[in-house]
Amino acid sequence: MQDLSSLWQAVLDKLELTVSNVSFVMWFRPLKVVDFVDNKKLVISANSISAKNQILRNYFDKLSKAVSDIFGENVEIEVLDQNEEIEYIKVNGEKTKEKEIEVTKNPFNPKYTFDNFVVGKSNQFVYAAARAVAEHPGEKFNPLFIYGGVGLGKTHLLHAIGNYIKEFNPNLNVLYVTCEQFANDYIESLGSMSTTKSKAVLEFRTKYRNLDVLMVDDIQFISKKTSTQEEFFHTFNELYQNNKQIIITSDRPPKDIETLADRLRSRFTCGLIQDIQSPDLETRIAILRKKCQLEKYVIDDDVIDLIAEKINTNIRELEGMLSKVYFLATLSNKHSATMEEALEAFNGQIEEDKNEGLSPDDIIDTVCKYFDITRQDIVGKKKSKDVVEPRMIAIYLINEILEIPLVSIGKIFGGRDHTTIMHSRDKISDELKTSHKIKSFVSEIKKMLKGG
Ligand code: ADP
Ligand code: MG
Repeated sequence: MQDLSSLWQAVLDKLELTVSNVSFVMWFRPLKVVDFVDNKKLVISANSISAKNQILRNYFDKLSKAVSDIFGENVEIEVLDQNEEIEYIKVNGEKTKEKEIEVTKNPFNPKYTFDNFVVGKSNQFVYAAARAVAEHPGEKFNPLFIYGGVGLGKTHLLHAIGNYIKEFNPNLNVLYVTCEQFANDYIESLGSMSTTKSKAVLEFRTKYRNLDVLMVDDIQFISKKTSTQEEFFHTFNELYQNNKQIIITSDRPPKDIETLADRLRSRFTCGLIQDIQSPDLETRIAILRKKCQLEKYVIDDDVIDLIAEKINTNIRELEGMLSKVYFLATLSNKHSATMEEALEAFNGQIEEDKNEGLSPDDIIDTVCKYFDITRQDIVGKKKSKDVVEPRMIAIYLINEILEIPLVSIGKIFGGRDHTTIMHSRDKISDELKTSHKIKSFVSEIKKMLKGG
């Protein structure tokens, strides 16, 4: 709890750092706080109409930023002039001198929103389920159980649900905890001195059982904690019976969480269980682009493609590599990150892949020999079937055997786009499942490559 004037002073302190001294003295110092309505709307007054207009026209962004830093993300601002202030006080009374104000900062990461979540094949269902639950908590999928590997966006989705509800349904009581936090909270309540113990447990229960939405992240860690499981079981039932929404994430499906009490396992299974998969290349590229946009990184397209191709499971690592590349570029005062920084960031990893005794040229030459066509044909633009098929086979083999990124293969094949290369590779890998002809081409070429 803090009083309003000291919070407002903190806002002014921030603003003083971001605007010129003259502007600060002219426009900001005279501002007064009139009210803080429901911990949500900050009403301030300027000492003239022109001062109010100055603030609204020229400084509103800076003011909003400082207010949200101090008061919390979703606090609105209303600016009044002197006459409006008098009117306001007539209607609502003098508010600022009243009780202390509790600042309820949004506990959810403002970057983890639905808008910032890139949807692709790997996560479209889980995205839809999370959105449905955010829009209609307790009505659609209850519980919603999301599982998937590390760094695939589970926590992001929980925060997105939280942010969404805070924005559109702010009266709901939403709590996000990690499994560890839940366990610690419970264990702490048990550990209180014996006289206050029952009170502490009661407080714990009041906190968890009066929620509208409970989100527990990484529930797999509950597997070793029997008494916590027991408590969670009761919490779950209480909420569930009252149609309150429960959302759980885990790195594995309920059936694979060892030592999970059967009754809890069956509770987890009674709503929707939805997995989240590793993103495909297109989605990875889209995620990196989104991140560049959010963080204002300037990075060459081919660098983005390269990172997206090389890191194909964990999105956190994907983002980590992007930041690293950008950081290297800023170190050398470059405006944008290029392939040079990318290669440095990958630290030789890319070269090593190529180095399995064979080079792309060996594969191209062998394919040319097998089909009796020239190198110029295969890397060139000809579209006749006798060239297109060998070209696709060569692309497939280079990618499969050497694991060379599609972007780089595109360069070898006359600057083709990575999507074209991907298409060729996918076409051959599909045909390998059905076509005897392609199967025998590929296996014979592989034999030749082995020197057979
Ligand atoms: P998890 O909880 O599954 O381990 P996180 O939710 O912490 O993964 O995600 C790791 C990082 O990847 C976060 O920075 C998150 O914003 C980002 N991320 C994951 N999925 C997406 C997506 N579909 N679009 C954009 N960013 C994503
Ligand atoms: Mg997580």
